[in-house]
Amino acid sequence: MTGKDLYQRVAVRLGDYQQQVIDWQRELVSRNAVGPDHGGPGEGEKAAFLAEMLRSWGLKVENYPAPDARVAGGQRPNLVALVPGRRPEKVWVLSHLDVVPPGDETLWDSDPFTLRVEGDRLYGRGTEDDHHGIVTSLMAVKAILDLGITPPRTLALALVSDEETGNEKGLIHLLREQPQLFSPADLIIVPDAGSLDGTLIEVAEKSILWLRLTLEGKQCHASRPDLGRNTLRASAHVILALEELAREFSLEDPLFRPPVSTFEPTKKEANVPNINTIPGRDVFYLDCRVLPEYDLSRVKERVLALGQEAARRFEVKLTVEPVQELPSAPATPLDAPVVKALERAIQEVYGRDPQPRGIGGGTVAAFFRQQGLHAAVWMTVSQTAHQPNEFTLLSNLLGDARVLAHVFLEKD
Ligand SMILES: [Zn+2]
Repeated sequence: MTGKDLYQRVAVRLGDYQQQVIDWQRELVSRNAVGPDHGGPGEGEKAAFLAEMLRSWGLKVENYPAPDARVAGGQRPNLVALVPGRRPEKVWVLSHLDVVPPGDETLWDSDPFTLRVEGDRLYGRGTEDDHHGIVTSLMAVKAILDLGITPPRTLALALVSDEETGNEKGLIHLLREQPQLFSPADLIIVPDAGSLDGTLIEVAEKSILWLRLTLEGKQCHASRPDLGRNTLRASAHVILALEELAREFSLEDPLFRPPVSTFEPTKKEANVPNINTIPGRDVFYLDCRVLPEYDLSRVKERVLALGQEAARRFEVKLTVEPVQELPSAPATPLDAPVVKALERAIQEVYGRDPQPRGIGGGTVAAFFRQQGLHAAVWMTVSQTAHQPNEFTLLSNLLGDARVLAHVFLEKD
């Protein structure tokens, strides 16, 4: 039977799994997997449920836990389940077990940890981020097992902890302790970001630079500005002076959306509590997403120089400190096998033109790329991750499972 015939059988089979998919989402949503950094119990219960299910399907499941005294059992789970293929090279799907806290629960229309089904929508914390990745990969594997197919490549599901709070107890741990698991010959898919129409394949990320800018002047009564040095007015001029950054770092790279580097003033700390006081200290932050072509130290130099020039006019002292500095990892090449395989699958399943692109956000794929492993981030999103009333669509779960199955069954 040809690869195409096999795919057609699996695609039909996946259509039978609707109730199963709802049941899995219900089980996953009900197991609160908020990480201890956010005051939650961790991923233990959710991982135990999944490990038991995968073993009941006859799969070999290994756990590579990271020690963490803050959670029951003292460990954060990292599961790897394998379906042996004809060849040892693997197709990885890496999803994460942890979820972010519900936030203000009054903004939810129902309990965040109880699945609510409304038409095509499945509501609950984690349904999109990242149960969508977990469930679609489970579906594709189950269909292949149910039909007794031996896939060309070995299928590997990684279910990791700690994606939402830094990855130290998740993928970073796995790559450090078990580097032999991954090979440059593997295809690595990370279903954890994407677009509404399922065409975005994320292959590159900009460098991230977060800066804290502190202005120090002199506080005084608002009726006597001549006695003080107003740091809020100076801040306004510094912010305007920093618009020059977009002109100095103006390169466009069509791989990225948006195609340019961005320099946005964002958070502003509170200064004086009352209206009739001129502030003598102001702090604000700059979020810079910089194309890989530029060196972050050069950006920092220019922020300081442009900012100080403006601050000096108000006799205000400016200091600039980095809060986060993440130079971008090398991009996954557009002709990498994982990109090509996803493109063919998206075209076949959705009939739409795939768009391999770079983004400004940071994802866990960066840690693969830093190791020279070509990872692609892809799924069809509802863009409700981290929000109240998070949901995913049943129809997208089915479609994305078909895309993964298509990749799983590719011969080369
Ligand atoms: Zn996520």
